[in-house]
Amino acid sequence: MNLFPNAEIIVIGGGVAGLSTAMQLAMRGQKVIVLERQRLGCGSSGRAAGLLGQLRGTAEHTRMLADGMEIVKDLEQRAGVEIYVKTGSLRIAETPERAQEIKDLVAMGKSIEFNIDHISIAETARRLPYMKTDDLIEACFSPTDGHLQPAELVSAYHKVGKGLGVRYEINCPVEQVVIEAGQVKGVKTSRGEFHAPVVVNAAGPWSYLVADLAEETLPTAAIGHYYLTTRPDPNHPVDRLSPAVRNRHHRLYTRPESGGLIVGIYEAEPVEYDMEKLPKDFDMSSMKAGRDSMNVALLIHLAQQRFPWINERTPMTISTGIMTFTPDGKGLCGPLPEVPGLFHCSCCSGHGIMQSPIVGKVMADLILDGKTKYDLEFMAADRFHDLPGYQERADIKRKCYEMYASYYGRVERPNAVAKN
Ligand SMILES: Cc1cc2nc3c(=O)[nH]c(=O)nc-3n(C[C@H](O)[C@H](O)[C@H](O)COP(=O)(O)OP(=O)(O)OC[C@H]3O[C@@H](n4cnc5c(N)ncnc54)[C@H](O)[C@@H]3O)c2cc1C
Repeated sequence: MNLFPNAEIIVIGGGVAGLSTAMQLAMRGQKVIVLERQRLGCGSSGRAAGLLGQLRGTAEHTRMLADGMEIVKDLEQRAGVEIYVKTGSLRIAETPERAQEIKDLVAMGKSIEFNIDHISIAETARRLPYMKTDDLIEACFSPTDGHLQPAELVSAYHKVGKGLGVRYEINCPVEQVVIEAGQVKGVKTSRGEFHAPVVVNAAGPWSYLVADLAEETLPTAAIGHYYLTTRPDPNHPVDRLSPAVRNRHHRLYTRPESGGLIVGIYEAEPVEYDMEKLPKDFDMSSMKAGRDSMNVALLIHLAQQRFPWINERTPMTISTGIMTFTPDGKGLCGPLPEVPGLFHCSCCSGHGIMQSPIVGKVMADLILDGKTKYDLEFMAADRFHDLPGYQERADIKRKCYEMYASYYGRVERPNAVAKN
């Protein structure tokens, strides 16, 4: 029995990718249902720090994120919530090679008229009095960066989508993708079947498992990520609008949060997960990071290099979650050749919150028009299709792990410089 007659599109996954896509499809008059195995936002979207760094490695990617901000503004109005907190962001360097990286980044930004410029170390110290700056040799500032508040973003997509007629089924895991005559026909869940000619796999870290259900290979892996949030400290006040900071030498990023500071790292030896081995009712918000874990010790150690007042005794919470990573650190959007009607939407690698506004629009365009106005080559879902070395799970996992491990570690060449 078909549980939702006349559905035009089924979206698997109630994280920001699926919710944004569903909302955009509904804005274009489609009858959409979102099927979520647990509750909306219980995956990566509920764990994110939400940093928004708009200057990316290419002009096209940067333009997409800037266009996404128009969608965020519209969403804020429609839902009546503040999602975007405009703090500006700094990149800082303490070695000559990292200083060169910043110079290249500023030159690249200016060449595409992105608002970014060098900033003196004295001015950096004035803006971030709680940060160690005496060893810095270069810094730059982008005033239009900041962060998107993940919980508010999830609820805004839901609220606006609901108003447009999207139906949301929670506690409804998809167990099978139904294919007939080589074309997707719908999905089978614990409650029964839902039919529609288009199915979108937006299952985040689980998306490779959903692709497996349709015998397609989606090159993603699930990698752990950690950040700490200090409690407000009168000796080191952090203003709500203090700029975000990216310090690649120490592999860390920061932003203000409720009077305290979020500090996250892209460590060289991350934790890998096999999503199929996690309990069926796994909710990412229940993940706990032990103070005795190596990754937490490293997080505190690296945070202390830049913020010497942070140490093991600092009142703080440690958050951990699972990111979806790809072999080249870019998202995967669109169909694969094997199953017509099945689309994948994995806006990932630590960028899914900030990418989701524009990715939802791009997915709606791809599904309804077969094309988008953006040059999507860098995030096309089929760019690894049939590529030797990217078909076996062990190879995919290794490549995604290496990409994460080198994410902040490597020094970037011009034109490929902006990460996270
Ligand atoms: C600790 C951490 C910090 C981060 N910081 C940032 C940041 O600063 N900036 C940024 O932009 N991004 C950040 N990210 C990344 C960002 O959170 C993700 O890229 C984004 O949330 C991915 O959204 P998604 O919808 O693809 O996945 P998810 O939010 O994981 O949603 C996927 C959903 O699919 C559901 N699902 C899975 N399988 C099935 C099934 N079979 N049937 C039905 N439903 C299913 C899951 O339950 C889940 O709710 C961070 C991530 C983590 C973990």
